[in-house]
Amino acid sequence: AATRSGTRWCGSGKTADGHPVKLLANVGSAADATNAIDAGAEGSGLFRTEFCFLDATSEPSADAQRECYAEVLRPFAGKPVVVRTLDAGADKPLPFLDIAAEPNPALGVRGVRVAFDRPDVLDRQLAAIAAATEDTGAEVSVMAPMVATPTEAAWFAERARAAGAGRVGVMVETPAAALCAEELLAEVDFASIGTNDLAQYTCAADRMTGALAALNDPWQPALLRLIALLGSASASQGKPVGVCGEAAADPLLAGVLVGLGVSSLSMTSAALPAVGEALAGRSLPEWRAAAERAVSAPDRVQARERARAAVDG
Ligand code: PEP
Ligand code: MG
Repeated sequence: AATRSGTRWCGSGKTADGHPVKLLANVGSAADATNAIDAGAEGSGLFRTEFCFLDATSEPSADAQRECYAEVLRPFAGKPVVVRTLDAGADKPLPFLDIAAEPNPALGVRGVRVAFDRPDVLDRQLAAIAAATEDTGAEVSVMAPMVATPTEAAWFAERARAAGAGRVGVMVETPAAALCAEELLAEVDFASIGTNDLAQYTCAADRMTGALAALNDPWQPALLRLIALLGSASASQGKPVGVCGEAAADPLLAGVLVGLGVSSLSMTSAALPAVGEALAGRSLPEWRAAAERAVSAPDRVQARERARAAVDG
């Protein structure tokens, strides 16, 4: 559908007044990558590498990893792709890592925490990513999942740079990381907010529990406030912050995220046209006004209603 200004999305994200917002796809396979390019994605803001490993009972060889990553990167030659290192544990158990059973896996040894115990696995993965980058010509960045402190971010950045990574980032999925946004960004080149996990940890509501879906709604004002901290830190540190959780696929919320200071949105490919059209329908000051209204709402329902009224008013 045409937007208010009559503009249609044509594969390059921007607000009605021309403020650029990178519209990217989340991918986990070669088929996802092809779909992303067909849908007009400007690149990928999240390549979930654990999808290359789900059935592996032993660690894939260097060559197998290189080929698996290259298959996904190849369609993105000349475009940016953010490759996330293994996000194992909790909802994504990987048999070859032998992670001990835990009473609360979502609060357990998962994401980058696995790499603290097994840095050798991380180093082999980083080497395979570097090799696949050379094979394909994609503009690759790497980022770590489930980072909690600036020191963890620095630890990852040092290893990734030693392995030849050009740009290094971290995911913001814990309230701890969001609350230390400036210090976190000082250690890396960019951050990407994983709203799926950040929502569950902000409201202490397991994302796998359907009965708690309302608390996991990314319109929760507390979640939006944490995202606003990242937006401010992005401006003060001069480093980009994106969103790669499901929140980015909601056209109205996408505009609110841009109003909070986010400069890229990565989502399932199918959502790209609707998000692109919605963004192009309002100016950055209008999205900022909508964000301000949503952040101060008392609950998720009113946050959405206030944002809607702000942009329609
Ligand atoms: C997230 O947590 O928002 C995210 C993008 O990572 P995943 O959904 O893979 O945990
Ligand atoms: Mg996550």
